[in-house]
Amino acid sequence: MKALYYDGEKAVYKEDVPVPERSEGESLIKILLADICSTDREILKGYRPHFRGIMGHEFVGEVVESEDQRLIGRKVVGELNKGCGRCIYCLTGREKHCLSREVIGMSRDGCFAEYMTLSTHLIHPIPDGLPIERAVFTEPLAAALEITKQVHIDPAGNAAVIGDGRLAYMIAQVLALTGVSLTVIGKHEDKLKLFEPFAKTALLSDYLEGDGFKSLTADQCFEYVAECSGNASGIQLALNIVRKMGTIILKSTYAGSSSLDMSIIPVNEITVVGSRCGPFEPALKLLKEEKVSFPDVELYELKDHEKAFASPAFKAGFRF
Ligand SMILES: [Zn+2]
Ligand SMILES: [Zn+2]
Repeated sequence: MKALYYDGEKAVYKEDVPVPERSEGESLIKILLADICSTDREILKGYRPHFRGIMGHEFVGEVVESEDQRLIGRKVVGELNKGCGRCIYCLTGREKHCLSREVIGMSRDGCFAEYMTLSTHLIHPIPDGLPIERAVFTEPLAAALEITKQVHIDPAGNAAVIGDGRLAYMIAQVLALTGVSLTVIGKHEDKLKLFEPFAKTALLSDYLEGDGFKSLTADQCFEYVAECSGNASGIQLALNIVRKMGTIILKSTYAGSSSLDMSIIPVNEITVVGSRCGPFEPALKLLKEEKVSFPDVELYELKDHEKAFASPAFKAGFRF
């Protein structure tokens, strides 16, 4: 089968990869669509130095083999993280944090291939009438919804999203649904235009002065700041625009590190929440009911992966 393989340095397109064999408890999925995530781009920059294997974790596929007969022929999406099922994390609803978890496209073979195996309990059938082109947004939208599981958002408050990329767009749509007053802060005027139907927008430069950050009044600051800029400087801005006793939600994962003056967190009694993967079923529901919408995915053949990875489109992916 065709597959896009990470060899520790770069993505390699192969046509002679054997179709994977399903183990007990797994289903074999024929991949229909797969999207490139920023995390995949970070992997190419060294975010997962020990990973070797087929890349990709955002997909829609069709189940071709499974012990669960009801799934055969169904179009499905799937969660990334498979835990051991026995440890304290797995037994207390924190499977995605299992120390011996396997993550598709990051520690085991992923979905940039014609077929993939996945634990059956991680599979979610997509509702009838939801096109696969929209269903492929389930995983990143679920990650955005995780914020509303973790943080009580007072709709009378205000929130800022730092970043104007794909994850920022999903998070902004989810936060806008709460009714909170929302501002999106980004670097790109053209990307910020996309947010205008449901959020105020501001340029990062509006918050800078000289070598540092502009000092802001309390009114200009935010109760909630979701940092999803995808780079290490985002948290610096977040600390500058969050109100005292406010909440920062960290969403960016990137290769590299950040050095910070941490004392601002205790002095201002700021809550910092790390946030990763989220619930699939409500994401599927919002997509099906068109409560959220996204620009079309730009689709490529797998062999044109370099073009796909270089695409400036809102989201690029592969059709199989
Ligand atoms: Zn992703
Ligand atoms: Zn476990």
